[in-house]
Amino acid sequence: MTSRRFGLTPRLAACAIAGLELAAANRAFAQAADLVFVNGKVFTADARSSLAEGFAVRGDRFIAVGPSAAMQEHVGPGSRVIDLHGRFVTPGLADGHLHNEGGGPGVDLSSARSLSDLLDAVGRAAKDTTPGKPIISNNDWHEAQLREQRLPTASELDLVAPMNPVVLVRGGHEYILNSVALRLWNITKFTPAPAGGEIGKSTDGELNGELVDNARSLVTLPSAPPVGIDNVLATQRKLNAYGITSARIPGSYRGDFFQALDAMLEARKRGTLTLRLNVYLPGIGVRDLERMRAILARSPLKQDEGDEWVRVGGVKLLVDGGFEGGHMTKPFVGELGKGGTYYGITVVPAEPYTEIVKMLNAGGWRVTTHAVGDAALDEVIDAYTAANAEHSIRGRRWAIEHLFVSRPDQIERLKKLDVALSVQDHLYLAAPSLKKYLGSERASQITPVKTYLDQGFLVVGGTDSPVVPFNPFWEFYHFLTRDTIADGVYGENERVASRVDLLRMITINYAQLTGESNIKGSIEPGKLADFAVLSGDLLTLGEREIPRTKALATYVAGKEVYRDASFQ
Ligand SMILES: [Zn+2]
Repeated sequence: MTSRRFGLTPRLAACAIAGLELAAANRAFAQAADLVFVNGKVFTADARSSLAEGFAVRGDRFIAVGPSAAMQEHVGPGSRVIDLHGRFVTPGLADGHLHNEGGGPGVDLSSARSLSDLLDAVGRAAKDTTPGKPIISNNDWHEAQLREQRLPTASELDLVAPMNPVVLVRGGHEYILNSVALRLWNITKFTPAPAGGEIGKSTDGELNGELVDNARSLVTLPSAPPVGIDNVLATQRKLNAYGITSARIPGSYRGDFFQALDAMLEARKRGTLTLRLNVYLPGIGVRDLERMRAILARSPLKQDEGDEWVRVGGVKLLVDGGFEGGHMTKPFVGELGKGGTYYGITVVPAEPYTEIVKMLNAGGWRVTTHAVGDAALDEVIDAYTAANAEHSIRGRRWAIEHLFVSRPDQIERLKKLDVALSVQDHLYLAAPSLKKYLGSERASQITPVKTYLDQGFLVVGGTDSPVVPFNPFWEFYHFLTRDTIADGVYGENERVASRVDLLRMITINYAQLTGESNIKGSIEPGKLADFAVLSGDLLTLGEREIPRTKALATYVAGKEVYRDASFQ
């Protein structure tokens, strides 16, 4: 059902009432709504970012937006009218880069706030685990959340779990092993690091237990439990509770990727999805054309196939590491910097990467690439430029993920390629670690969102959950203030002054990146009725209050999918 079906949209009519006659005619045309919301402060994210008092929903679509009085025209015998009492409403929020919601079947370290909390959790798991059996952690934690702001060492893990191999999985780039695990997988201080990986050593040359990026391939973890519909439903339940109605899944979810995609499609078929998913096929770490072709062939959906619930957006590639492995043109500092000789990790070198990018471009695929350091960004820009010379990528919604560190000369080249920038709030969580690795000046300029917006890029917000918790209000707060959880403000000059811009990054900009701005991303007649009523007005709320914002109610396709107990 769209507004185009009836001659006058109520909003136009409301603006253009010339006399009672026209108003009466309009009433005759107006469609009765299922839901009519009035007396709110509705951020529409339309072209002018206008605010409205109310809107009407019929079926899965908005049919009208405007002043409360004008919404009365859509009240029929079967309509439910909801008084928002001034509450703030936003189009359904989107996470532009989310793997999963965190958690999992492993040891939960997400609430550890000190090394002893972390070691206690591992120790408890060890007591419950038969000697010799591996203990694995979930990956949704970071040492920056710990008072000591460092990782545990192999020998510290030995103290609490001397009889079991322990593998702490941290984010998407690092494992920390205890001595039993190092022995189990025959890793010694003489083991060479695989290409694109690092085996961590302390200053005395002994193993500290850390395996970074491709060095993780030295370890074989027990295969993850199969991913099923339950996982997909658990993810959407948690995200809906924060007003999130759309997420872009960049090449990995949890467990086997295609099993996960099948589960998403099965949930879609059963009509149980309440989160719209834009999924990128997994080219992460792929170094050869054959393997890339095999991955493309295995996908049940080609690019842009699917529907507004599950769609394949393109292919996700990766060239460098994460927090401690971003590939930089200037060396890391401190212990990790190894006396100014460590520049991060090239996970996929320029030559194979460029060949893969060109091959995907020739096949009409849309590419997005993980690039954390500025040297990695050079690699991506060079490859995209080479591909662009063969067949233009402009206007085809290619993108780059993360862009922690970039240089002014790169901005110019990026603009020529017309790529979208997908940014997340890693700095909010990991600031002290990033300062330790990169020095305060470089750390203070990480993920310069204001610069990216000022340069006119399509900038899309996200969290990289479970690397950073998926709370969209933390992200909004961080980009607005540049404040961090544990270490104060980093780079005041990169504060984004416009809250409207920040909201657009997680609503309409997202829809533009996924090519769906004609059907969602704003509250406008004819679009899918995805929206959230929030506990606070993000446009005026005191900065300190923003991280505590909650969703009071979340609607997807005109149906309530979450309601907070405190709402009505
Ligand atoms: Zn990621």
